[in-house]
Amino acid sequence: MPSAAPSLSAIGPFEVRSTCCYCGVGCGVVIETEDTASGRVITGVRGAPDHPANFGRLCTKGTTLHLTAGASTRLLQPQLRERDAKGARTASLKDTGWDQALDIAARRFAAIIREHGPDAVAFYISGQLLTEDYYVFNKLAKGLIGTNNVDTNSRLCMSSAVAGYKATLGADAPPACYEDIDHAECLFISGSNTAFAHPILYRRIEAAREKNPALKTIVVDPRRTDTARDADLHLAILPGTDVALANGMLHVLLWEGLCNLDYIRDHTEGFETLKELVREYTPASVAAICGIGEEDLITAAKWFGGSRATLSLYCQGLNQSSNGTQNNASVINLHLATGQIGRPGAGPFSLTGQPNAMGGREVGGMANLLSAHRDLANPEHRAEVAALWGIDAVPAKPGKTAVELFNAVRTGEIKAVWIACTNPAQSMPDAGLVREALSRAEFVVLQEAFANTDTAPYADLLLPASTWGEKEGTVTNSERRITRVRSAIAPPGAARHDWVIARDFALRLGNELGNTDAPRLFAYTTPEEVFNEHRETTRGRDLDITGMSYAMLEARGPQQWPLREGETTGAVRLYGDGRFPTASGRARFAPTHHKPTAEKTDARYPLHFNTGRLRDHWHGMSRTGRVARLYSHVEEPVLAMNAIDMAKRKFKDGDIVQVASRRGEFVARVEASDDMRSGQSYLPMHWGSQFMNSAGANAVTSPAVDPVSRQPELKHAAVRVEKLELPWELVVMRTVSEAAAPELMSAAQPLLAEFGYATLALFGREQPAVILRAANKVPVGETLLADIDRIFAFDATTSLNYMDARRGIAKRVMVTGGRVTGVRLTGETAAREWLKDAMAEGLAVEPVRRWVLAPLSAPPAGNVGRGRIVCNCLNVAESEIRTAVEQGADLAALQETLKYGTQCGSCVPELKQLVRIRKAA
Ligand code: SF4
Repeated sequence: MPSAAPSLSAIGPFEVRSTCCYCGVGCGVVIETEDTASGRVITGVRGAPDHPANFGRLCTKGTTLHLTAGASTRLLQPQLRERDAKGARTASLKDTGWDQALDIAARRFAAIIREHGPDAVAFYISGQLLTEDYYVFNKLAKGLIGTNNVDTNSRLCMSSAVAGYKATLGADAPPACYEDIDHAECLFISGSNTAFAHPILYRRIEAAREKNPALKTIVVDPRRTDTARDADLHLAILPGTDVALANGMLHVLLWEGLCNLDYIRDHTEGFETLKELVREYTPASVAAICGIGEEDLITAAKWFGGSRATLSLYCQGLNQSSNGTQNNASVINLHLATGQIGRPGAGPFSLTGQPNAMGGREVGGMANLLSAHRDLANPEHRAEVAALWGIDAVPAKPGKTAVELFNAVRTGEIKAVWIACTNPAQSMPDAGLVREALSRAEFVVLQEAFANTDTAPYADLLLPASTWGEKEGTVTNSERRITRVRSAIAPPGAARHDWVIARDFALRLGNELGNTDAPRLFAYTTPEEVFNEHRETTRGRDLDITGMSYAMLEARGPQQWPLREGETTGAVRLYGDGRFPTASGRARFAPTHHKPTAEKTDARYPLHFNTGRLRDHWHGMSRTGRVARLYSHVEEPVLAMNAIDMAKRKFKDGDIVQVASRRGEFVARVEASDDMRSGQSYLPMHWGSQFMNSAGANAVTSPAVDPVSRQPELKHAAVRVEKLELPWELVVMRTVSEAAAPELMSAAQPLLAEFGYATLALFGREQPAVILRAANKVPVGETLLADIDRIFAFDATTSLNYMDARRGIAKRVMVTGGRVTGVRLTGETAAREWLKDAMAEGLAVEPVRRWVLAPLSAPPAGNVGRGRIVCNCLNVAESEIRTAVEQGADLAALQETLKYGTQCGSCVPELKQLVRIRKAA
C-alpha cells in the first residue's frame, strides 16, 4: 500500500479540493471558505487546475455551486409527520432528535419485516450518493435485512449501458477515457446532447476539433440540439430506431470492406450470426425506418469504419429506451466489427449522467448486482459476497428494480420504503402512479439534504443529510476515475452524513431484529474504513482497486481503475490486448434487433414526447432551482414543437397548452423550434411541482422498461397537445436577498395550484427576485390576491397602484431606495419583461412610475426587455449578441473583443449558432 504523503486536500487555510456534485464528467473543484462569527462558510468555487477531468474549467452549473451552499433550503432537523384521526398524512411536521427518529424507523421496519418478511421493505437510493454511502446501504439491505430490494435512480440513467457492456464485453467497464477525445479521428455521439449535459467534455471536443480540423463528428439525435448543429453530420433518427441505424451501418461496413476481419477472428465471437442478421438492414430499408437519408447512413458508416480511431460517446438517448440494452450493444458491435476499441481514440464510451452512477455500480448498489460488479443471479458471486461480509448467505431472490419497486409499494407488497438523496415523486416515469404509491405506503423515510422536494410531502420521517461541500468519501466519474470528495464545512443543523445515518439505522435495526452480527457488520467509524472494505471486495475483479487508498488519492490525486495491489497507476483504457472478461476471453457480438418504442402514437395521442436536460439546470432543481442566474438561459418549462405541427393546431408561440398521455398531463407554454422534426415534442425534465403546477414531464412519461436492464423508456411517450384558453394573466415579481429567495419560493409554492397555468422562478444576479407567472380562465378572487400580497410582502398603502376595473387590469409597483422592488400585474402582463429588467438591472424608476399611473398596459415604446441570457458568466443577452453579429462580429470577434463565451465556455455552441444564422441570412 502506498505510504501516506503530504495531503492534497487542503491547499490553503481556507481552500479544499473536492468534486462537482452534478454530472458524470466529475470535474475537480477547489472550494473556497471563510471563517465567520457563525462558523466556516463556503464563499466560492473554482475548477481544480490539475484535475484530469476538467483542468481547471467548470460549466455554468459548476461555477455557481457555492451559491447553493446556504442553509436556507436545507432540512436541518429530523422531523416526524403527524397523521390525522383517519391515519392520513397531514402537513404538520414535528422536530425530533436523532435517537428518537432512528428508533422509530428501526421499530417500524423491524415490525414489518417480522410480520411480512424482508421483501416487504425497500431502499431507493441515488447516483448522487458517494461510494461509501452506497456501500453501507447495499450491505444494510442485502447483508443485514436479507432483501435485494435496493435500487437507485441510476436505474433511470445508465442500467442499459451496464447491460450493454456486460452482454458484449463481459464486464461493466467503460473501456475508453476522456483523453481519447484528443486522439479520435471520428466521434460518433449518439443520444447525447453533450454540449448541455456534459459541458466540460464538450469543451474538450471543441478543442480537439480545433486542433484537428479533419476530425469528423456524427451526432445521432431525433432533435437538432446544440451538439447536433455543431456536427459534420446529424442523423435525426426517429425515436426508437437506434438499433436499426447501427445494424444498417454494419451492413454498409461489410459491403464496403471496412470491417476488421483480423480483429473479429482473433478477439470476438458471434459475428456470423450478426452478419446474417444485418443482411436485411439494407441502406434503403434502414433509411426508411430511421427517417434519414440513405446517403447520410452510408457516409456515417464510412466515416466510422474508415477512420483510424473512432470514439463513440453515448448517453440517455440510447439508455432510456425499452430497447436500451440492444441500443448499447448495437453500437459496441460496430466497434468490435471495426476493431475500434482498446486503442488511443477508439472505443465505445458510455457517459454517465450522475456524478457517482459509476460508484454505485462498483459497490453493486442495485437490485440485480452485488459488490464489485458481481451478479446477484450468480450463486458463486453470492457466496463470495457472503464470505466477504461474514454472513450465511446473500438472498437469491432478485430485488425489485425502480419501476417494479414503486409498483410493489402501490400494491402493498412493499410496505416501507427508505428513500435517500433522490426525488422519485418527480424523477420517476408516470409520476402520478409513484405519488399514489407513496401516499399508500405504510411508512416512508426520506433522507435528504433539502427540505422541499416533491417527495417530501409523502415522507413520515424526514432525516437531514449532509451534501456537497460537507461530505467525505469518493466518487467515480465516467472514465473510471476515482476522486476524493472532501468536506469544506460542517453540515448545518443536525444534518448527518448519509453513510452514518445508514450505519446507525442498521445498528438499531439489528438490535430490534435480534441480529447480533449488526455491530460487527457496521463497525465503521470513518468513510475510509468503508472504502477499505469495498476495496477488498474488488480483489481479483475487473475493477480491482486493491492498490488504491485514501492516502494514495491524497498524495497522487484521482486515479482510474483497475489499479491492483503493487501498481502505481490505473489503466487509462481497457482491452488493449484484445482479451475480454468473458468465459472464452473473446468479446461477444450481440444479435441486435430493431424494436419500435413500447408505446405507439395513434389518432388520440399522435405526437412523440421526449425529455432531457438543459444547460443550466440539474435534475429536479432542488439545488440549481435556488440560484437566480441559472434561470436566465431558460426561465420556464416550455414545450418545443415543430412549426408545422403548431400551425396545424393553430398554436402561436407562448400559447398555453395541455400535454396529455395515457397516464397524466401537464400544462406549459409552447414554442416553435427548428430543433424538432414534425410529429415530435420536447419538454426539459427539470421542472416539478415545486416550480410549476403539475409534476412536469414525468406526469406523461411511460413506465415501459427494457426487458434486460429494466430501465424505463423516459425518452418516448405518445401524447396529444391541446390549447387551453386562459386569457387572464398574472405576474408577481419581488426582489429579495439571496438567502431569503428560497424561503419566498417555498412560501409561494402552494399558490401554483390555484391557477390553470403557473410557474415559479428566480431572476437577477446581485439582487435576486422571485417571479410567479400565472394564467387562468377567469380572474381570481380578491382573497387569493390578498394572499399573494401577504406572501410577497406588498404593501398597498406605500406602493404605486393603478386599477381599471372595466378592463380588468391592475398594476401595483413597489419602489424601495430608488429601485423597483416589487411588481404585481393582473389581467394584462405585456410590460412584464421591461419591468423585470427594471428590477434586475436597477433601471430608472421614473419611467416606471409614469407608466404605472397611466392607463397603459403595454410597456413604453422600445422597452421590450433584454430577453434570454446566453453568456451567463458575463450576463450577455441573446439580443445583444445578435446586435454584435449583425454589426459583423464573428465567433473570434465575440470572444476576443467582447470576451463573450471566454469564461466557462458553456455558451460557445450557441454563439456559433447565432453567427451561423447571420451568415445564412
Ligand atoms: Fe459539474 Fe459542469 Fe463539470 Fe458536469 S461538466 S461535473 S456539471 S462542472
